[in-house]
Parts: sequence; C-alpha cells; structure tokens
Amino acid sequence: MTSTSILLSNGTVLLHDGEDRVHAIAADVLIIDNRIVEVAPGIASRGPASELATLVIDCTGKIVCPGFVDTHHHLWQTQLKGRHADDLLLDYLHKGSTYPPLLMVAAGNITSSLFNPDDVFWGELGGCMEAIDGGVTMVVDHAHINHSAAHSASALEATEASGIRSYFCYYVLPKTGVDSWAPFKFGAPFLAVPDWAASQLAELAGKQPFGDGRVRLGVSFDAYYLAKDVVVSVFETARKLGVKLITSHCVRNAIAGQHSVVNILNSYGLLKDDILLSHASQVLPEDAVLLNAEHAHVSSTPDTELQMAHGTPVCFRPDLYKISSLGVDCHSNNSADILTQMRLALQSARGAHNAPFVAQGKVPRTVAHTVQKVFNLGTILGARAVGMGAEIGSIAVGKLADVVVFDGQSPSMVCAAEHDPVAAIVMHASVRDIETVIVDGKVRKFAGKLVPVDVGAREGEEKPLGWPEVAAKLIHSRRRLQEAIEAGNDDEAREAVITAYGIDKNNVVDHL
Ligand SMILES: [Zn+2]
Repeated sequence: MTSTSILLSNGTVLLHDGEDRVHAIAADVLIIDNRIVEVAPGIASRGPASELATLVIDCTGKIVCPGFVDTHHHLWQTQLKGRHADDLLLDYLHKGSTYPPLLMVAAGNITSSLFNPDDVFWGELGGCMEAIDGGVTMVVDHAHINHSAAHSASALEATEASGIRSYFCYYVLPKTGVDSWAPFKFGAPFLAVPDWAASQLAELAGKQPFGDGRVRLGVSFDAYYLAKDVVVSVFETARKLGVKLITSHCVRNAIAGQHSVVNILNSYGLLKDDILLSHASQVLPEDAVLLNAEHAHVSSTPDTELQMAHGTPVCFRPDLYKISSLGVDCHSNNSADILTQMRLALQSARGAHNAPFVAQGKVPRTVAHTVQKVFNLGTILGARAVGMGAEIGSIAVGKLADVVVFDGQSPSMVCAAEHDPVAAIVMHASVRDIETVIVDGKVRKFAGKLVPVDVGAREGEEKPLGWPEVAAKLIHSRRRLQEAIEAGNDDEAREAVITAYGIDKNNVVDHL
C-alpha cells in the first residue's frame, strides 16, 4: 500500500496535557496515512518538502486544532433549513405538516414522510459537508429518517461519500408515517421492531465499519412508551450485534413528557457506558448520579435547547460536566459548527450564573466557566462521550488524524490568536476562518473550500461533485418537498401531534 503523508509546518499547535489543559506550542505535525505520527518543532527543516511528505501545508500564522466532535445531529435535514428560526418544540413537531419530531411517543415523522431515498441521500450529504466545512470531523448521527431500508441505505451511502467520521445511529424502531394528509392522520405506530429493520440492523452490524473504518454503526432509540420487554430486547439485541453506541433523546418538559429516561433505563438494567443521552434537559440530581456511576454520557445542544424551551443546557452543571459534550441537533434550525455551540453554551451558562447576583444588587467576583472548559466539551470530552477518547479529540502522536487549521490572521482572529489561541477559537472564530479540515488523514476542506466528494457508483454521478453541484441537487429536492408540504394542513397536523404526544394544552401558556 502506498502511504500518503501530510506535514503541517510551522503552526501554533493546540495540545492537551494529562489534565485536559490545552497548551499552544510552535510545532510541525506529521501525518502518515490516517495517524498523527510526530508533533515537534523543526520537522520541516529536515529536508526538502517533497521528501518530507506528499503534501506540505504551510501553517505560519495558523492554529492547528483538533477536529471538533458533534455528539448529536440529524444529518438528513438539509432541505428543511431555514424553517424553524422562530419555532418552539411543538411548532417544530407539526409546522407545515412538517418535521421529524423528537417522537418520544407514537407520533409519526411528518414532513420526513415526504422524503424519498434520493432526497435523503442529498440531505444527508449536505448535512455531512456542512459539518466538515465547520470543522466537525466526528459526528453522532441520530439517523431517524428510517422510513424504509432504502432510506437508511441512502443516508449511510451519503455519509460514507462525504468523508466525515461518524457513528451512524440506525433508528431501530421506525417512525410511523402519515396515512392521510387531508384529513391529517398518522399511520398506526410500530409497537415492536419490524422484521425489515431488524434484519437491516443485523446486516449493517455484520458489515461495519464502513468508509475505510470511519463510519461505525450505532443505534438510536426514543420509544420508551413501549412495553419493557420490547425496550430491553432492542438494547440487548444491539449489544449482541456488537454495536458500541446507543443514543437517545432525553428531555423532560411539557411537550416531551415528564418521564425520566435515565430512570427507565436504570430500572430495566440497561444503563451502561455505551449510552449517550441528547439534551438531558431537567435531569434530576439522582439521575446525574446514576449517569456518572455507569459512565454514560450527555450531549448538550445549546441552540435548540435554549430556543425550544427544553431547559437550560446542562453541560456546565457540576454534576454533569465531566460526562458532557456538545451537539448541533438540527442544522434545519441552526448552524452545524461546534464553534457556535461552544459560544452559546459558555455565554448562556455565564448569564445564568450572573443573574441571581444582579437580581440582588451584587456582582460575582469572578467569571463563571472558562474558554478552556468549553473547548474541551467540543473536543476531548466529545471524543470520550462516544468511547473514542484514546483515538480522537486531541492532537497527539498515535491518534487518528482529525485536524482543523484556522487562519489566525483573519480579521476576526488576528491578535487574539497571538494572545490566546483557545480564546481566539471560542470567542472570535467563525466557519470562514477554518481553512483546512483533515479527517482520517484525508484533506476534506482546503484553502477555505470543501474538496469535491466522490459519490461512487450513484447513477449518473461518476465524477466527484463539488459543493455547487451538491447545492443544486439540494435546491431541486427542496422544491419538490416544498410543494408537497404546502398541500398539507398545518392546523390539523398540530392537533394530531398534540393528541399523539398526549400533550396537556393547559401547560402550553402565554404567561406564567
Ligand atoms: Zn435531536
């Protein structure tokens, strides 16, 4: 096998020490195949560039940073971007006869029912490429577009083609679709895993990993309303098949319900270190104790949680910080970069900390939380949340080569990058400043542009596709979906969701 190598020369490299403190050093980083093999000053001075590496990237004035880890995302939703900016959770669930709900109960996927496997392919590819553009090199995909085996196969195919590293978390209990749009009516809910999903899960488990080892199979599951034996069987089956990550939504509020996912899992004997709960909003202190004891993990998604009244992000709670991480959740609602989630998490936590002082006419003596703490949520803690702390999440010899290079001399980062590179990334950087993204030793973004993707044997797409071609496919798919959405009845869909979720309308109020 011919090895490929990349030398990142003369950059400011961010390195984690044994206690998760991040230090900036002037150094070169040598990558051979998909591993980081050396981090040291002066590698570039050992000889002519052509002899040192296949590709040498001059990182003078740049910050070399670990790739970001996004621990909760529905990557197929690209065609739905822009529709939820002023939505709460209930709106998100029903609006425009729309969108893929959280579905703790037997409601159906509404607009997602309109997606055919081809729509899923382009939506998923767009989601993965937006993530890479924003510096995300590893993502946990809560892949709940599982209306048929063909839908999931399309999503997985697009994930592989994109080049991202992923836990593709197969939605083991498919959502009920829409039986009738006028009058609006959900189909009957699945009360157990259908045969076709069980066999696809087993088949994928036997074939994984995909994409040269980048894409691993996980399982996503939300249906805690089902009988205990069904829930237990899903988890036990996944574990027997060798699945290493099981992810679930976990929200306690008036829309999602007040049950405790942590308590249910624990009482069924299922709470283990392969569990990743998204949001964990309003989890009780005793739930936090259980999560820590079992080494389970949590994904905070500040954008959607703050907007949609899930509750305050929990990632800085002292009883949850060490097992927390950050996720994007819905790029249909917000941007797909972890930079935004880090900043929102940090500043909202600081605001919540400051508020009671201000209310009592005082001010705190010191600021709450630090840029280093939130940087770790987006990197090494995210890696640990998916059981890959030894492989990704930091720059270190022997680790997989998932690396992001920032332009430290851009208008937004200049001077900040000189003073404190971590502060520069957390407080000043945007996606524009991300020049290069390397996933598994392959360059996926270069000189600020996404590298074309090879969509393999997909009919009619023999050549690698650049972002403009992918965007054209997405626009075409969105138009078709939009026509179907507009034929639906918004009010009927909202009522159907309220009924299906068992939402008490007395708890949906204008004022307290
Ligand atoms: Zn979600």
